[in-house]
Amino acid sequence: MGKVIIFSAPSGAGKSTIVNHLLGKNLGLEFSVSATSRAPRGKEINGREYYFFSTEEFKKHIEKQEFLEWEEVYPGCFYGTLLREVERIWAQGHTVLFDVDVIGGLNIKKKFGNQALAIFIQPPSIEVLRQRLTGRGTDAPDKIEQRIAKAEYEMTFADQFDTIIVNDRLENAFQEAEQKIRAFLS
Ligand code: ADP
Ligand code: 5GP
Repeated sequence: MGKVIIFSAPSGAGKSTIVNHLLGKNLGLEFSVSATSRAPRGKEINGREYYFFSTEEFKKHIEKQEFLEWEEVYPGCFYGTLLREVERIWAQGHTVLFDVDVIGGLNIKKKFGNQALAIFIQPPSIEVLRQRLTGRGTDAPDKIEQRIAKAEYEMTFADQFDTIIVNDRLENAFQEAEQKIRAFLS
């Protein structure tokens, strides 16, 4: 079994920004592409950001027990990690990097124990989170409010993670994440 790094955060906290930065850093990390039943957003490409499945396809993969974990993260929107994705990355000798929601992150941590580093990315405040989601311009106002309501609940799980990084100044968050990952992998 190889190692895994889990990034979880309320939506809009800056997880994708931090994850994309780390993937360019020669740390031997490879992104675990999740499956989702939501529609592609912006410039997302099937097989790169996500495997985009119809709800029916997603449910077939659940029935065949092909997921390490899956969840209905938002009503009607399924997300999950395919077991074959983890096997593929380990077979290449890389460390798996997960970007999953908070409950999914804790479930993966339970499965991998000390082989996993679970990192919670925390926004400086809910108000800043709202500004970032609005500024990103990818979600309709009702979706943004849905994500904020969920964020308040998700923040209550932060201290169950191995470590918390407050994403205030992005440069500091990048550095802190890199340091923690290097220490874990060494
Ligand atoms: P997530 O993946 O957690 O949903 P994103 O990485 O998409 O969040 O970030 C949400 C928005 O906030 C993006 O527009 C991103 O550019 C911006 N952002 C991320 N981190 C910071 C930061 N430290 N300061 C200001 N803006 C940020
Ligand atoms: P988004 O729609 O913004 O890409 O993602 C919404 C939420 O679903 C984020 O919190 C993201 O981390 C989470 N997510 C993405 N993939 C998975 C997955 O495979 N499993 C779980 N549990 N959550 C996921």
